[in-house]
Amino acid sequence: MPKKKTKRIKKQGKNWKKFWKLGSEDFNTQFFGISPDGELTAIEGHHIYNLNDLAHKYGTPLQVIFPFVLEDRLKDLIGYFQAYIKIYNYKGKFFYHYPMKVNQNKEFVLPLLSEGANLEVTSANELWLVKKLWEGERFNSKIRVVCNGPKTDQYFALIEELRSKGMNIVPIIESADEIERVSKYKGDIGVRVDLNIKADTHWDKKFDRFGLSEKEAFDLPRMKNLKIMHYHMGSQIKTQKSILEAVKHGFSIYKELQKTHPSLDTLDIGGGFGISHEKKKFYTAKAVSSKIIKLLKNLSEKAGIKHPNLIIEWGWYIVDPAQITIYKVISEKHIPKANAKSWYIIDGSFMNDLKDTWAVHQKFHTIPVNNMHSALKTTWLAGSTCDSDDKYTAGGNYILMPKLHEGKDQLVAVLDTGAYQDGLASHHCLLAAPMKIIAQDGAVKIARKRETADSIGKLFGWTNGDHK
Ligand SMILES: *Cc1c(COP(=O)(O)O)cnc(C)c1O
Repeated sequence: MPKKKTKRIKKQGKNWKKFWKLGSEDFNTQFFGISPDGELTAIEGHHIYNLNDLAHKYGTPLQVIFPFVLEDRLKDLIGYFQAYIKIYNYKGKFFYHYPMKVNQNKEFVLPLLSEGANLEVTSANELWLVKKLWEGERFNSKIRVVCNGPKTDQYFALIEELRSKGMNIVPIIESADEIERVSKYKGDIGVRVDLNIKADTHWDKKFDRFGLSEKEAFDLPRMKNLKIMHYHMGSQIKTQKSILEAVKHGFSIYKELQKTHPSLDTLDIGGGFGISHEKKKFYTAKAVSSKIIKLLKNLSEKAGIKHPNLIIEWGWYIVDPAQITIYKVISEKHIPKANAKSWYIIDGSFMNDLKDTWAVHQKFHTIPVNNMHSALKTTWLAGSTCDSDDKYTAGGNYILMPKLHEGKDQLVAVLDTGAYQDGLASHHCLLAAPMKIIAQDGAVKIARKRETADSIGKLFGWTNGDHK
């Protein structure tokens, strides 16, 4: 560790909460704290969960889901938009659609629906889950479902079936070969346009293969049920400017399309709102929602058209902070000559459970669960598969963790693991996925039991008979 750093840590003395970036809205950790004996806590109103105790009770690896965080974030977000709509006297309506692919677990989807979310789905299988909810009467018939992604026959048949049963369901034209089929659809339809501008995102792609090009969109034959124009710029947009430029450009297409398709009244600006795990100065939902409404109002008044209804599909922003993943350190290995002094090997896998550490070198907010007041060491974290890519090094920097002590467990928490990681998870080396628990209303429940050798073996075709 560089000398200066050591001093700074020592000087910081007692402010460990600040040191671990907890209890701070800037880091989306307002509901985390530290107990007097240096253990990580989560606070839901007057309920306190001690995560060290939970990890000892349920074992590791462990995922902890906090539905109250989802509910809070969505309530706030809808509140911002509704407030600015009033303040600016905006005439369009606001709709939040939860993009289901970001986390399809029931424990995420159901709380969001009860907080007022509509849905966005990307595949027949996601839609099939929505159908199950509908059949179980867990679905308010006002909820609207927009359907993105390539429409296979099975997917389109399901869309038709749900519409015939009374669901408010909108297929979005994804490519030119869907135009004819979707335009015959009896309900509202939408079109996705691949905007001819680039957003400043984490994953700058040179070519986008989603949606119609602007030219294809302008060439669409008149459709009397075209209701929504949709675009999606990508995930983790880095600046507020990029979000607003996309709205501005998107509106210029919307305005033109409306001349051919007078039923068009809704602009769907997709997802992409970012969350920073490291930077304090990041754009906020409050400021951006105000700017979007103001911008759309000014643009539509200039163009002399009605204020569009607005759909947003910010997934990451809503669900990422609602889950954490906890591991136990099972051994330590010295690293000669590197930014970190030791590998801490954990009892799970970054590659399996937190795929983005490997796939896109995503950084995560990583902190100890216990001994949070103790002397520190610079570490890199390694997973338990045999893969050299199964590691987390904070981008080659280091992660500060308490020094290990004989006979004392050290637990590590990775915060903000609620978005995307589950759908991408895998079973490299047949390691078990973390057990899932939910903490809500002061009670803790098991959502998914720990996988066993037998249950994982079954995923790979090994049934009892085969072993004989
Ligand atoms: C992935 C996706 C989203 C969600 O993006 P986030 O970056 O999680 O906000 C929204 N809409 C569409 C069409 C998507 O493909």
